[in-house]
Amino acid sequence: MRVRTPFRANPGRSPESCPALVLNADFKPLSYYPLSLWSWQDAIRAVFLDRVNIISTYDVVARSPGFEMQLPSVVSLKTYVRPCREPAFTRFNVFLRDRFTCQYCGARSDLTFDHLIPRSRGGQTTWDNVVTACAPCNLRKADHMPRDIGMIPARAPKRPGVFDLHEAGRNFPPNYLHESWLDYLYWDTELEP
Ligand SMILES: [Zn+2]
Repeated sequence: MRVRTPFRANPGRSPESCPALVLNADFKPLSYYPLSLWSWQDAIRAVFLDRVNIISTYDVVARSPGFEMQLPSVVSLKTYVRPCREPAFTRFNVFLRDRFTCQYCGARSDLTFDHLIPRSRGGQTTWDNVVTACAPCNLRKADHMPRDIGMIPARAPKRPGVFDLHEAGRNFPPNYLHESWLDYLYWDTELEP
């Protein structure tokens, strides 16, 4: 079955600002990094395909002729999906692993990435060869080997486990959190949605 679009959401709040948090059948987020979110269109499509239950909704109504529906803010899959145990190798996850801190000087701004063994010397873009570095440190290190220039990262880089990233993520929740999500996310920081 294919759902006819477009639905029209009521004016006032943009439906584009209404992503649905996607939970697995055990009511845990399908993924944390990145947080499993679907667009409102994908969420409604999944409802029609009977793949999800609606757990919570926004105060925003999608309308099409003869039909209206509150946009889901939280949905849960009807069938359990085995979660991926290996965090994706993304820019965000490298920053998160390194706590958004330059591994050479501890700076927390102007962050970029440095190859421990420079690419020009065969260094790979992998978990164990890429560290968070501020731009000045990155510039200073350039094509040097770490020991040659005395720049050793605070923590030897390695592939993080999902648990490591969850620990780190408690301090760095995403920018947008709808109140209906909070019961399902366990960042225990003070949150101002
Ligand atoms: Zn630095």
